[in-house]
Amino acid sequence: MSDIHLKKLTKSYGSHAAVGGIDLKIAEGEFFSLLGPSGCGKSTTLRMIAGFVQPTGGQILIGSDDVTTLPPERRDIGIVFQNYAIFPHMNVADNIGFGLKLRKRPREEIRTRVADALRQVGLSGYEERYQRQLSGGEQQRVALARVLVTEPRILLLDEPLSALDKSLREEMKYWIKDLQKRLGITTVYVTHDQDEALTMSDRIGVMQKGRIEQVGTPEEIYERPRTLFVTTFIGHSNVIDVTVDRGGGADMTVMLEGFPLPTRGPENLNAGQPAKLVIRPENIVIDPGADVTVRFPATVLGESYQGALVRYRLAVGGQEIVAERQNSVGNARFLPGASVTVGWDPGRSEALVA
Ligand code: ADP
Repeated sequence: MSDIHLKKLTKSYGSHAAVGGIDLKIAEGEFFSLLGPSGCGKSTTLRMIAGFVQPTGGQILIGSDDVTTLPPERRDIGIVFQNYAIFPHMNVADNIGFGLKLRKRPREEIRTRVADALRQVGLSGYEERYQRQLSGGEQQRVALARVLVTEPRILLLDEPLSALDKSLREEMKYWIKDLQKRLGITTVYVTHDQDEALTMSDRIGVMQKGRIEQVGTPEEIYERPRTLFVTTFIGHSNVIDVTVDRGGGADMTVMLEGFPLPTRGPENLNAGQPAKLVIRPENIVIDPGADVTVRFPATVLGESYQGALVRYRLAVGGQEIVAERQNSVGNARFLPGASVTVGWDPGRSEALVA
């Protein structure tokens, strides 16, 4: 097991910077996800760690070893891709033992290690099966076993679930996370799927245009997004135009349609500056009790029934915000045109540089 340290890592194709300078430390045993839209440089970063793509600049350390110029087979890593590509003409045992056979390990050792790897992925007894006798999820487990059998220092996963259907993907994401925790193996996971990243990761690096915009735990990324890009990429957010009333930091105030709203924000936001106030729909309370400090009037524009919750569109002055409310017994519904009070806990909102 090892930590990973990327120092000023870059990769350019001609004048295009696919990865524009990444500084990142991934701790030993950590499950770290690189999350971002297609083309933001996630795979290129992963492939540089693996050794399949040579960086234009910067350094890659695995543990204390500088592996920047080492070929992939000397980096002691395991990598699983979206298309798990297990050999169709070999049975499961031969697929998993293939790497060990290439390394000329004794036959008995290969048999034991293959059995151990199959046990790790919950497929004991599958040795004699062929690819056509395996479901998609089982094939992906075989692909993982094939990597784990070599006992790599780090595990790299490049969109490993995207070829699976939705229900299997749900099941596999918990399964992979459990396996990773049990093995304690440092893991870098590439995905464009925010649900996967939020569910599985210890920390997430949100990428845009070859750079990491924010690194944090799933809670930090979801609840305290630092940039508008992170805010809009992860979940749904209200992004409301406000003016800074009292300067940035933990106890700043912004003005929304004449109402002073306490919130928090970056230190470099000063009084008089325009800013964006970000708040998640589930954190907006309609008709709050007296214990909510942030309160102001709004008008219901429309409601949409979503089953477990009801989503309201509300007008606050000239701006529209969205609030979600649990559709539980005793929760009144509000009709379009109704005048309501909306409120929230100031710790749930965040002011951002406009
Ligand atoms: P992601 O994995 O986030 O979808 P990639 O790392 O695959 O993104 O790609 C990042 C950028 O680098 C994209 O603009 C892509 O077109 C470009 N790119 C990736 N590989 C190559 C290559 N071999 N040659 C030229 N451009 C590339």
